[in-house]
Amino acid sequence: MVPTGRFAPSPSGRMHLGNIYAALMSWLSARSAGGRWILRIEDLDPGRSRIEYARLIEDDLKWLGLEWDEGGLTDGLPGPYCQSMRGDLYASALARLEDQGLVYACRCTRADIMASQAPHQSDGRIIYPGTCRPDGGMTPFARPEGPGSRRLYVAPDTTIEFTDRRFGRQRVDLAVECGDFIVRRADGAWAYQLAVVVDDALMGVTEVVRGSDLLLSAAQQIYLYHLLGFKAPEWHHLPLLTNSGGIRLSKRDASLSMEAMRASGASPAMILGRAAAAAGLIPEAAPAGLDELIDAYRHRYL
Ligand code: GLU
Repeated sequence: MVPTGRFAPSPSGRMHLGNIYAALMSWLSARSAGGRWILRIEDLDPGRSRIEYARLIEDDLKWLGLEWDEGGLTDGLPGPYCQSMRGDLYASALARLEDQGLVYACRCTRADIMASQAPHQSDGRIIYPGTCRPDGGMTPFARPEGPGSRRLYVAPDTTIEFTDRRFGRQRVDLAVECGDFIVRRADGAWAYQLAVVVDDALMGVTEVVRGSDLLLSAAQQIYLYHLLGFKAPEWHHLPLLTNSGGIRLSKRDASLSMEAMRASGASPAMILGRAAAAAGLIPEAAPAGLDELIDAYRHRYL
């Protein structure tokens, strides 16, 4: 099967080396197997997304030679590829979940939930305690009406199993690890989990290569794939890059932003080599071209 991969950045800032590493690994995974690669702009959060950043993402990817077959800001068929323009598709998916009686309106704020429960383990996640579940928690719920977010019910015995190419066999007790989760925010914005599943399924994505901060999200997404009757893709989560202090790279590491790296005179091959070395594809951060990296990727993974 010829794979279809994708890169799905949120246009909330200029990309940094960590984003380039994720883009490169997903591009290499698709291209080394002769597959397609899609660029999807995840601009669901109106407060944080800026079209200028989406343009810079496109410019940086093209400058690096990471060309996509479909997607980006162009809105040709079978797009659009900007999530802000795909609300009708998310609405019909939500209606299908509501038809199954699994969705309810939730009036809790994040602060309410924080006050009612200790963060899960040490990573600060909050598991929703089910405060707004109607009918004593007995499904099917009536179609939700009125204000509030829309939350998807997770039954107590929901176990999700999947195999990640990098992290191996995963088994997630979804009610314990995640709990009921939001599919539409109270302000009407679509939740990432719903949008990403609808998009990956309708765009024909067969493999998802992205940072391991989203490993647990894969379990929520598989749950949605099942409920919506879509086939789930293969998963390859990437260990997160850290800075010299061992902290995950973020926009705060200014010297590793594409802006700073390009301004310092780094060539595309230098930046690709740096990302590839961080991924362990080449032994050291020497300039590397994409053909060479495709060979290295095939050697390592195929
Ligand atoms: N938009 C997400 C991000 O930029 C990535 C989502 C995904 O790859 O599934 O972190």
